Amino acid sequence: MPKTPAVRDYIRTIVDFPHEGIMFRDVTTLFADARGFRMAIDQMLHPYAGMEIDKVVGLEARGFILGGAIAHQLSVGFVPIRKKGKLPARTISQDYKLEYGEAIVEIHEDAIAPGERVLLVDDLLATGGTAAAGLKLIERLGGEIVSCAFIIDLPDLGGRKLLEGMGMDVHALCA
Ligand code: IMP
Repeated sequence: MPKTPAVRDYIRTIVDFPHEGIMFRDVTTLFADARGFRMAIDQMLHPYAGMEIDKVVGLEARGFILGGAIAHQLSVGFVPIRKKGKLPARTISQDYKLEYGEAIVEIHEDAIAPGERVLLVDDLLATGGTAAAGLKLIERLGGEIVSCAFIIDLPDLGGRKLLEGMGMDVHALCA
């Protein structure tokens, strides 16, 4: 009997994108497949069965696709964290280091009420810089972070260690 594909089987790797030496994990092939996408959402939700979650926060841009589906499944609201200058109302900002230079992410200042229990979602955890900046924004608004959920964790890049060092619970479907 043919083996049922796992989530990782739907993800393709693009060599030298966006620049030489990078092996880019492309999850668009997972999102485009009905069975793969449903499997990923179901598996990302699995650790949180029965847990109280008030909001899902997604990181731009693939975290929006995953976070929207997860929020819908949990019947809770979705909140975007976006790159600087994209959100229309009043925001708070957080900067973080990139390989070369730095970046800024923002959240609407009224998007999370103090004490709300938040799940952070993104497609991939690498150095953890993006997720850590997002978590800081949620904490600054008084949100209580339940966990962080990713499809892919690249453990050699240290993201999980960084987030766990911040006291976070981290889940990923594959490496
Ligand atoms: P980090 O901040 O180094 O953990 O990088 C994670 C962020 O970069 C996430 O928002 C990812 O969407 C994005 N990212 C980094 N590498 C890849 C990749 O290979 N595939 C898809 N997204 C990636």
